[in-house]
Amino acid sequence: MTTDGKRRDAAAGLGTQPAGPDGDVRRLIPRTDALLREPRLAEAARRLGAPVVKAAVRQAQARARAGRVAPEDVADEAVALLPHTASGLHPVINATGVLLHTNLGRAPLSDAARRAVAEAAGPTDVELDLATGVRDRRGRTALRALRERVSDAQAVHVVNNGAAALVLAATALAAGKEIVVSRGEMVEIGDGFRLPDLLVSTGTRLREVGTTNRTTAEDYAAAIGPNTGFVLKVHPSNFRITGFTRSADLTELSGLGVPVVVDIGSGLLAPEPLLPDEPDAASQLRAGASLVTASGDKLLGGPQCGLLLGEESLVRALSRHPLARALRVDKLTLAALEATLTGPPTPTAAALTADPAALRARADRLAASLSADGVDARVVESAATVGGGGAPGVTLPSAALSLPETYAAALRTGRVPVVGRLEAGRCLLDLRAVPPQDDERLYGAVRAVAES
Ligand SMILES: *Cc1c(COP(=O)(O)O)cnc(C)c1O
Repeated sequence: MTTDGKRRDAAAGLGTQPAGPDGDVRRLIPRTDALLREPRLAEAARRLGAPVVKAAVRQAQARARAGRVAPEDVADEAVALLPHTASGLHPVINATGVLLHTNLGRAPLSDAARRAVAEAAGPTDVELDLATGVRDRRGRTALRALRERVSDAQAVHVVNNGAAALVLAATALAAGKEIVVSRGEMVEIGDGFRLPDLLVSTGTRLREVGTTNRTTAEDYAAAIGPNTGFVLKVHPSNFRITGFTRSADLTELSGLGVPVVVDIGSGLLAPEPLLPDEPDAASQLRAGASLVTASGDKLLGGPQCGLLLGEESLVRALSRHPLARALRVDKLTLAALEATLTGPPTPTAAALTADPAALRARADRLAASLSADGVDARVVESAATVGGGGAPGVTLPSAALSLPETYAAALRTGRVPVVGRLEAGRCLLDLRAVPPQDDERLYGAVRAVAES
């Protein structure tokens, strides 16, 4: 506690240690307990937890001891050092031009989904029928919404992610048996995650058929026998094989007498005219797929989850398998998924369908404002991509702000982190994945770097 009231920082009303006869400014640095009582920091402690605030206070005091902050500014400095959220995850602006950036958490949620998540965060009726007061099917409204969006699916189930959907299908339908799969579809999705390894880890055997570039229905037919669990078709979602290629038709495979599971990856529920080569759940089911698996946080634009859609008996076998319990999704995911399915177009859909001329106009406006501020900002044409989430080889015409390369790191570590991409010695901020309402924040972030 302060012992010398006269030496108190009058403005902030904060206790300081008494200055020595030498007037050492270090002794004017407010003490931790006094700082923690400062109204803004006390409020932050209630919001973020005391340890987080204490860490900011210690850091601010250290800066004052190092002479980088005046003693009377320590409280302000600590407030400035406080994190915005209680987690270490920073909301960022995705200016990479990659719509579904895995390192940035893939699909951003719609406002409807964000609100649904917040509303479901407390106690909810996720497994209770409020009318009767009895237990009910978990996530029934989300499942119904999914089922209604894909009328070709007799039944649906939702698990933790696309990989979990495959694991559940393999375990429930092919444990101790064989999965027949083309050599051209033994893919690695990213970060060392290989589908064949995942499938084998469930205790099934892979029966590889065909070649890298060509696999026919006869290849599958010749491999099918009493030990077959199912035929698996995997959409190569992050690369393309072109040239002398052939793959078997679903219609042909569906006549082989075993279930055909199709991993479409992206989560498109219906055809998307802008991405003609991207498979969708409805078309695959109509063409004869018994079961379709997909991710929720790719082109569907929802939360991380794995969708399973298809024949009633198969979906029931999956959802009742003991492993299903270990792969189940939480209420927040169910809430976000339902709001994504029933709500307005997602940010991912908006980014996908954005008009290149409108992107250019936004870039022009931003560049004009920044140039007027003395920033070396130009507008360049850019090619955006869907990302690891789908549509390999497809580029989407876009517009980008081009800034000096040194902006890249500063923008990433700024108060509103912006992630762009480096190209030919310039830092490009591609606007396709940036919602128009974020232009102002983007401008502010670049300004802040220019001024620093
Ligand atoms: C993305 C993807 C997966 C994995 O899905 P996650 O949701 O990331 O687990 C599996 N198969 C394909 C074809 C994919 O594109």
